[in-house]
Amino acid sequence: MAKGRRYLIAGNWKMNGFKKDGKELAKAVAKHLKAAGKDDLPFDLLVCPPFTLIRGVGKAIKGSGVKLGAQDCHAAEKGAHTGDISAPMLKDLGCEFVIVGHSERRTNHGEKDADVKAKAEAAIAAGLTAIVCVGETLEQRDKRQTLAVNRRQVKGSLPKGANARNTVVAYEPVWAIGTGRTATPEQAQEVHALIRAELVKALGEKAGQAVRILYGGSMNPKNAKELMAQPDVDGGLIGGASLKADDFWAVAQGCL
Ligand code: PEP
Repeated sequence: MAKGRRYLIAGNWKMNGFKKDGKELAKAVAKHLKAAGKDDLPFDLLVCPPFTLIRGVGKAIKGSGVKLGAQDCHAAEKGAHTGDISAPMLKDLGCEFVIVGHSERRTNHGEKDADVKAKAEAAIAAGLTAIVCVGETLEQRDKRQTLAVNRRQVKGSLPKGANARNTVVAYEPVWAIGTGRTATPEQAQEVHALIRAELVKALGEKAGQAVRILYGGSMNPKNAKELMAQPDVDGGLIGGASLKADDFWAVAQGCL
């Protein structure tokens, strides 16, 4: 991480947990943050539970400094979209962040860069910070398309009006998500540097340098420090390891 940017450690709980689990996990995360003294820490801590748990988790972390986010939103503000949730609804529940364009959404729901961009723009319009996910598949990496794919996804998914307050980018190589296979720090930095260059091109030097770029893909307490020591790795988007408060906290210790 370079000077001037603050780490973001974001937990993506995916489709896991019932009311009781969510509350317990959220309270345990908040307890760690409280015990550490939140004013001195170089990172923000964020949890993104499934929609059903947002309200309960919000109550459990109230006043703790832990931030609240969601895993997806619809691009429209309201209307005939059965089963969907809008960005203003998330804001109304106390969310500050929303993940958009996660590879599981791109794969399972056919979301394309233009959809991701529209969702990120809806999030920003609602006063949320969009965490825009990009990343190549193993096949694309093997075909040496990694840089081209990530460049195309950043260009196509970046919301209009993006800045360091309303946008975070997450590089999540699809082959590393939930597989236990992590990008090496060098592989991560190579793509983060490319994303940084694209951000600078699109937003100008100051804003492009200020936007946080997270790494996601089997980040855990053992590999977090090395990954986050890379100059353009400004935190993590963490799936599996965010479901245990002690592991999530141990990942965050990689920022110190
Ligand atoms: C994710 O889904 O965003 C993720 C990075 O998952 P995991 O940490 O389990 O690989």
